[in-house]
Amino acid sequence: MTAPRPAAAPTQWDVLIVGAGPAGAALAGRLRPQYRVLLLDRPAAMAAGSPRIGESLPGAARVLLQRHGIYARFLAQGHAPRGASVAQWESDTPTWFDPIRDPHGVGWHLDRPRFDAGLRESAVAAGAALVDDGGRLAVSHEDGCWRVDIAAAGPDDASASRGTQRTSVLVDASGRSMAVARQLGLARRGRDRLICLYAHLPADRRDQDQATRICADANGWWYSVRVPSGQRVLAFHLDGDDAELKALRDPACLLAKSQRHALLAGIRPTAMDFAVHAQPAGGGGLDPEAAAALPQGFFAIGDAMLAFDPIASQGLFHALATADSCAHAIGRYLDGASDARTPYLDEMRAVRERYRQRLGETYAAVHRYARERFWLRRTAAAALLSR
Ligand SMILES: Cc1cc2nc3c(=O)[nH]c(=O)nc-3n(C[C@H](O)[C@H](O)[C@H](O)COP(=O)(O)OP(=O)(O)OC[C@H]3O[C@@H](n4cnc5c(N)ncnc54)[C@H](O)[C@@H]3O)c2cc1C
Repeated sequence: MTAPRPAAAPTQWDVLIVGAGPAGAALAGRLRPQYRVLLLDRPAAMAAGSPRIGESLPGAARVLLQRHGIYARFLAQGHAPRGASVAQWESDTPTWFDPIRDPHGVGWHLDRPRFDAGLRESAVAAGAALVDDGGRLAVSHEDGCWRVDIAAAGPDDASASRGTQRTSVLVDASGRSMAVARQLGLARRGRDRLICLYAHLPADRRDQDQATRICADANGWWYSVRVPSGQRVLAFHLDGDDAELKALRDPACLLAKSQRHALLAGIRPTAMDFAVHAQPAGGGGLDPEAAAALPQGFFAIGDAMLAFDPIASQGLFHALATADSCAHAIGRYLDGASDARTPYLDEMRAVRERYRQRLGETYAAVHRYARERFWLRRTAAAALLSR
């Protein structure tokens, strides 16, 4: 990247990023101070409203956190070292994996709200402008530049509009919603209707188990892990049209079903006053070929580019990795390289192919349920990713 660019009117940006999740925030911080960066998000009330899930970060992420210049801040946030994982997956016999065997280091169980907030704070501290109170966005491309019109957040918002922003580079970092890409006519590839039902069980000082517990079930799969707040996450992944889905929104039902598995039977919450949330969790993402056909200056990162099935536990690593690769591509593009997007999309094709293969193998390894609808659909979903 080159020398800082001169200041300009606040509606003209070098890079406008839609979505201040881990991917968008990491990219915004990384591009400062060289470039004028606007980071857009929705008001909290318009976002999902449920506590976030996704807390496992592999040791290999350390290098990315260092490259983004946020490793010291990250270490000060109080995340816990990742403990062993134990799985009843390929058979009913539990298999242990201790991350101490991972040459990149054990990794972390994140305090997820603190992790996400820390990335945003780092981006703002680096000088990125953050607007998180706008409403719907309208995106267009005119005169070789991207235009983003931001509507008022809602009927109570006195301003008719939050204004028009112009930018050389537009980045979709809006997660699985792919808010920008969909407006530009791109569809999500892979139609996996996987749903995650999850609860944060109340903190219990007697629960000192550090292991991530993973179990295959006939109509889905479980995981449970204790997070740094002391709460325990209990999550079940199943098909969106599973007849049991509605009943399992009841905390007692979810818990009773989990306790049929020896690995989860010891989970006994101190109180039953927890909510069960539902979140789409199927993998899938943009077709790199279709993205390449859009006008120059458009990029997608994180889940908006490729969302991973939670069994991969790779989404946050991918968010940081795509922010890293995309920062290089954007730097080259703003320096005049009109083909800067090509190597980035080539990298994304390779990531998608490796992920597709690994996902297919992971689900196919569960032989004892191979004839069940849930498991047949998962292997089919992995194949769909490349079509
Ligand atoms: C059940 C489950 C378990 C998971 N477990 C793990 C795990 O253990 N480890 C792991 O690494 N990953 C895990 N993940 C994945 C991980 O959470 C995601 O990969 C990660 O959050 C992606 O970051 P992102 O910044 O791309 O998207 P997001 O975190 O989704 O952020 C997108 C941002 O865009 C904003 N936005 C959306 N639409 C608009 C709009 N129209 N205008 C403005 N802003 C908008 C949102 O408010 C949000 O702030 C899990 C995911 C699920 C579903």
